[in-house]
Amino acid sequence: MLDCSYCQEVIFGSEYQEQKNNGVSLYYHIACFKTKIDKRLKIYSKIDEERNYQDTLSGNMNHKGIPTIEAEIIMLEHYLQEAKRLWVTSYGNNTPPLDSLRKVAGIAIRCLENHGCPSRNL
Ligand SMILES: [Zn+2]
Repeated sequence: MLDCSYCQEVIFGSEYQEQKNNGVSLYYHIACFKTKIDKRLKIYSKIDEERNYQDTLSGNMNHKGIPTIEAEIIMLEHYLQEAKRLWVTSYGNNTPPLDSLRKVAGIAIRCLENHGCPSRNL
């Protein structure tokens, strides 16, 4: 008997989606898999908007849109610290810290775009 990795409910019948991750198979109801992918694509779209915004800032004469890896790590730490501070001071309002985490995701992706993204060894 298989449990859906998205909703945790039992999958009855033979209609399911299998996803292999690092040698381990995850199983989903077809609808749950579609919901999971749709949700991820919406998030990727918002991170893409963040990347486009960051590119408008690329006139920075210090790096011409290609900050060093060290500079990106410093910016990641800065915005992660900001997310922590906002989480503590926003008293249950998750929007401010999540806004900072969207920036963290965009900065990390920019760094990988500019300096390479190693594949995970499976
Ligand atoms: Zn499910």
